[in-house]
Amino acid sequence: MAKKSMIARQRRREKLSKDITLRLACKKIIADKNSTHEERMDAMRVIRKKLPRDNSRTRCSSRCSSCHRPRGFLSRYKLCRICFRKAAEWGFIPGVSKASW
Ligand SMILES: [Zn+2]
Repeated sequence: MAKKSMIARQRRREKLSKDITLRLACKKIIADKNSTHEERMDAMRVIRKKLPRDNSRTRCSSRCSSCHRPRGFLSRYKLCRICFRKAAEWGFIPGVSKASW
């Protein structure tokens, strides 16, 4: 089980990374070939100074939905390897069975 503070931090990041309209608009200005140097610098300044760091999508890492483990995450099932194994053994994941030959 992850620390409560880590779970809270992850929740805050997920909440902040939902509204990325301003960040995307600034990135569009930066990538646009027709924008001037000043416009580009202003857009970069907005991203760096005005937006919170946790607003970035890369700050949000994937975690297990049941135990919040950061490593060994299976994105298809949104579970870590340990929770996936337990759920598969109990038959909670349809179509998954233990290998036997
Ligand atoms: Zn887990």
